[in-house]
Amino acid sequence: MSDTGSQPAHQAGRSLDPHLGRYAARTAGMTASEIRALFAVASRPEVVSLAGGMPYLSALPLESLAADVGQMIAADGLVALQYGSAQGTVELREQICDVMALEGISAHPDDVVVTVGSQMGLDMVTRVFCDPGDVVLAEAPSYVGALGTFSAYQAQVVHVEMDDAGLVPEALRQALAAVKAGGRRVKFLYTIPNFQNPAGVTLSVQRRAEVLEICAQHDVLVVEDNPYGLLGFDGQTYPALRSADPTNVVYLGSFSKTFAPGLRVGWVLAPHAVREKLVLAAESATLCPPAFTQAVVSRYLSQHDWKGQIKTYREAYRERRDATLAAMEQQLPAGCTWTKPQGGFYVWLTVPEGLDTKAMLPRAVTQRVAYVPGTAFYADSFGSRQMRLSYCYPTPERIREGVRRLAAVLEGELELLHTFGTVQHRRLSGAQTPTPDTA
Ligand code: PMP
Repeated sequence: MSDTGSQPAHQAGRSLDPHLGRYAARTAGMTASEIRALFAVASRPEVVSLAGGMPYLSALPLESLAADVGQMIAADGLVALQYGSAQGTVELREQICDVMALEGISAHPDDVVVTVGSQMGLDMVTRVFCDPGDVVLAEAPSYVGALGTFSAYQAQVVHVEMDDAGLVPEALRQALAAVKAGGRRVKFLYTIPNFQNPAGVTLSVQRRAEVLEICAQHDVLVVEDNPYGLLGFDGQTYPALRSADPTNVVYLGSFSKTFAPGLRVGWVLAPHAVREKLVLAAESATLCPPAFTQAVVSRYLSQHDWKGQIKTYREAYRERRDATLAAMEQQLPAGCTWTKPQGGFYVWLTVPEGLDTKAMLPRAVTQRVAYVPGTAFYADSFGSRQMRLSYCYPTPERIREGVRRLAAVLEGELELLHTFGTVQHRRLSGAQTPTPDTA
């Protein structure tokens, strides 16, 4: 028997939310990402998930980490379990400077702010710089978590085209001119120069200088988000944008991909005046980042072969990238094109015209393969012919099976398209309850 009138309000639908008239206007920009909505389904064991960007943590030496954490609590528990400074511990900030030196950055620990993942860094930077209606330039496509943050602060995203060598400088010039002509203010350029999420491409060294020059000329700050920079498959690193311009770049770093995301330890390196504002923003959000996870990371960096661990990760991801690209080459139908990542977690696939990756997702999930539709990575609903495939988590064997299933889905869609001139789809059902995923 069904009687919606007797249901509690929280089950009866959003329109009955008694708090509706109370929310701040900015909550209109807070919507669940497409990855979140997908994750409950994609995490079922029978589904090969090429969707979430979860690091391959089986590569970590868990037992020795466990022993280390135990020893750390016994030795330093009174500090590690206590409140700490809003900026983060001096020890970790010094170690972070050593990590950044690998990409040519020369920084002082005083200009580093430790954050709860680089996602918090993104939140703080946006909070400090953006008023509602301000424009943020972002690569097209761009990291879904950053788009969510910009939207939560009611900033408006203007996308800038990329190609296989990353952000296109001429497109950047044009976007800046167009925003200026519209009488609006660009607050910053948000870019992921290395092994980009979701496109897998890397900004060429030559373009790095050009992008910095254009932004300096137009008085636009650069926000460089670099969680994957040390995960180049040939061990190559690129000079960080921050290494060439310490005054106009805010740099975001993270231990999520080089160590473990569950620790939620990231950082921001900022010009000194900006750093002061960021510490105040951090203080109001969390008082201080967890002393405990900072102590875990510090101990890991001082006691473990962390560079060796990054090499282990790189090798695991290179094997997976190779498996993905080879399977795509062999199995995907004609008309598909994709990027060839030299590092990081992601391949960006473009499917033949007439197909819609978001609309076909339920069919893919039914055939036990999941991906993230391209539209998730644009602020303007573009990307319906694209999808992001993550190869970081499944084994090469599962990847091959996943690509085989994906190829079958695409073949099926193309057949329908050729027979009927269009493809009919079911919508994602309500049973696919969202669970958290920010990767
Ligand atoms: N930036 C980019 C480009 C990312 O891919 C991610 C995580 N997927 C983040 C920031 C956030 O990372 P975290 O908060 O775990 O450091």
